[in-house]
Amino acid sequence: MSAREDRRALPVLAPTPWRDSLRAGARDVDALVARGLVAAADAPALRAVGERFEMLASDYYLGLIDPDDPDDPIRKQAVPDLAELLVGPSERADPIGDRAHAPSEVLVHRYPDRALLFPTFRCPMFCRYCFRKVALNDDPIRLHAALDDALAYLARTPAIREVILSGGDPLMLSDARLDDLLGRLRALGTLRRLRIHTRFPVTLPMRVDAALAATLARHRPLYVVTHFNHPRELTAEAATAVGHLVAAGLTVLNQTVLLAGVNDAAATLSDLFEGLLDLQVRPYYLHHPDLTVGTQHFRVSLDRGLALVRALRGRLTGLAWPTYVIDIPGGGGKVPVDSAAVRPTDTPGVWLLHSPLGGVHRYVDPAVHPRGCG
Ligand SMILES: *Cc1c(COP(=O)(O)O)cnc(C)c1O
Repeated sequence: MSAREDRRALPVLAPTPWRDSLRAGARDVDALVARGLVAAADAPALRAVGERFEMLASDYYLGLIDPDDPDDPIRKQAVPDLAELLVGPSERADPIGDRAHAPSEVLVHRYPDRALLFPTFRCPMFCRYCFRKVALNDDPIRLHAALDDALAYLARTPAIREVILSGGDPLMLSDARLDDLLGRLRALGTLRRLRIHTRFPVTLPMRVDAALAATLARHRPLYVVTHFNHPRELTAEAATAVGHLVAAGLTVLNQTVLLAGVNDAAATLSDLFEGLLDLQVRPYYLHHPDLTVGTQHFRVSLDRGLALVRALRGRLTGLAWPTYVIDIPGGGGKVPVDSAAVRPTDTPGVWLLHSPLGGVHRYVDPAVHPRGCG
């Protein structure tokens, strides 16, 4: 059967509270005007942003925004900003060099022992700072065929012991499709563990129910990595979603992106990390923002990031310390910022990043040198 026929045979998806919340959400600037989140006068200029980068946010997530606060940290993550049309120095469409390490359209194999697999490029929300914001376009029929190629690559590459489902958000797949995919991965016989990276518990927590948790738990050891950026995202709904995962025996970790105007304050980060521990979620990574086009307004300097994480030491349980990492532009992998792998030079704002995969990258911090340097 061809991928096209297979696709046509898919059952029509039944309405669910989470699909309703997506449908009642906003997929363009006009919908944001209708909700009172964007002034009508600002809409024409903002439409250009919507044409350049996709926009989508659920009714649930938009409901967390304080409409009276123009600097609301939830708003900044979901609502397009004119600053997205600016392109800063070193910014690029593929900031961490995924394409150079992609044996298939849906697989990135950078480290010898693990690979990223994208079962979809769709998301329940298009985060304004996303490092894949340029790559998120979706043709389900083509993806379906690419997935078969990716599984064949994994089958002939037994050095890969861990597969990380990412994308796109893997939980866009129905429970049945996820179960099938995870089963096919397990059946390879080469993988020791699976991981799912998802923002659903944050942006659309109703997706994560007991049935989904039970489906995932059939494929343990399976690690779920969520993506909370701000303590206000730790709602009762989010707690319920995470509670289902924990109750099913899954290990839940969190990664946060350090974002100017959203969470670049020690008190915000410590509230977030302790709030995660309350839900039995262990902070895993704090990511320095990548050099993605149109994300200049979210950028924090490496110096400032270091000062923030150092301020948390001593006043926060070690359980709540994520590793602060930067992904080396162009594909050198992630390195801990507070380590010998990231070294200052004599020029302020210019760093040497030592890749775990070999090589040294000169990093000119665009938050310090907005017009580039040398
Ligand atoms: C981030 C990333 C991983 C996972 O890295 P960990 O440090 O194990 O969390 C794997 N592959 C690629 C290509 C990545 O970018």
